[in-house]
Amino acid sequence: MTSAEPSQSDQEKLLYKLVIQFLIFCQGGHKLLEPHLLQISKRLKAGAGLNELTPELDAISKTLLHISKQGEQGGLESLFKQQHDYLIQRIDDLLEHAPVPMRFQQQKAALKQRVKTGAGDSSFNKVIDSAIALLLDIKDYAVSERKDIDGFLSGLGVQLGEIEQQAEMVGQSTRLSLDHRDRLNLEINRQVDGIKDDARRADELVALKAMTSEHLDNLMLQLLSHKQVEDERQLRAEQQIASMTAKLQALESETEALRVKLKLEHDRALSDALTGLPNRLAYKDRVEMEANRWMRYRAPLSLAIWDIDFFKCINDNYGHKAGDKTLALVGQLLLNNCRATDFVARYGGEEFVMLMPNTQAGQALEMAENVRDMIEHCGFNHNGESINLTLSCGISEFTADDHVDDVFVRADQALYRAKQAGRNRCEVYRHDRDGLPG
Ligand code: GH3
Ligand code: MG
Ligand code: MG
Repeated sequence: MTSAEPSQSDQEKLLYKLVIQFLIFCQGGHKLLEPHLLQISKRLKAGAGLNELTPELDAISKTLLHISKQGEQGGLESLFKQQHDYLIQRIDDLLEHAPVPMRFQQQKAALKQRVKTGAGDSSFNKVIDSAIALLLDIKDYAVSERKDIDGFLSGLGVQLGEIEQQAEMVGQSTRLSLDHRDRLNLEINRQVDGIKDDARRADELVALKAMTSEHLDNLMLQLLSHKQVEDERQLRAEQQIASMTAKLQALESETEALRVKLKLEHDRALSDALTGLPNRLAYKDRVEMEANRWMRYRAPLSLAIWDIDFFKCINDNYGHKAGDKTLALVGQLLLNNCRATDFVARYGGEEFVMLMPNTQAGQALEMAENVRDMIEHCGFNHNGESINLTLSCGISEFTADDHVDDVFVRADQALYRAKQAGRNRCEVYRHDRDGLPG
């Protein structure tokens, strides 16, 4: 062997490097390859040499042969399948993120189920038709709700107008009552002055008595008539006040019912029915709020995106119900294992987001590692059969003049690296390595 020729160990190193590059290239390429890639990745981490990888490399070679045969047999078919899957995924996304009022939740769940259980070709069109019909129903319902609210508000205006009129009448009645009392005072004064004049002019007691008695009779009549008018006025005012109070009470309870209904709709629009966690819409609100707070006070703020590993396999192997239960469990585990001031939401599908105020990326990583490890060892099982349940996590901290979307993209980039590096791990976005402008 001349010195220009590569040594055997150089060739081995080159081969070893090529194998690793090839494996990285294959990751995420085909689901049949994933278990083998995972296995090799574990062995490489344990420091295995090329020889020890031979059985897995052999298995990959056979799987590649199998995949390429499948491709030859059904090139066009697989293209159709891809488009079919893409459409199904988009319908699923649409159903997931469209704001669905409570009364349509069951329909939505049933439709999602049909989408998930993989509609066959014949029922595929029906699924699309049902999705469109559901969305149109939701739109009609939203329009009629709007009309109801508009109707209520214009009715409210009319009722308030009536109450205002009645209040005005009660006021007038009080003013009339005051006028009436002033007139009565004048009349009493007039009669008393009359009595005094008569007393001065009278020279006979009998005549004086007669004149005084006439004045007193007049006074008595005036008083009685005044009392009668006042009693009637009082009764009318009381009736008006009672009617006003009843109208106000009715209005109050109608407004309260509407307030409760709107609050319920609002809460529902912000929460995810399956996990009970806040949903993507709620996350958008919250992240804006936290980002504003961060901009003002500059206390560190970190964002983590969690994604269940090989979740599709859980669905495929144990059914969608088990998949749904897994999602609910993971949601609770994430929520119960972060701080009360943190925020966890289901972002969609099998992805969750976590906002951690007052937390630097390094601290977030430490906490995420604990949660990841806890979930990995939580003893997850289906009917007693133990199931691998692991999550990958990407973390990024708010920096400089970040917009919330920048941080999300970076955390997603870190998540991608966690997946590429074998899953079941947490990664912080690295400005030097992850290739996106910081
Ligand atoms: P990876 O490790 O790369 O994340 O693989 P994965 O299988 O978790 O990811 P992939 O995106 O291939 O599959 C996600 C699956 O999650 C596909 C979809 O059917 C399923 N899914 C999304 N939403 C729901 C849901 O509400 N319930 C159930 N049961 N499954 C869901
Ligand atoms: Mg995902
Ligand atoms: Mg996943």
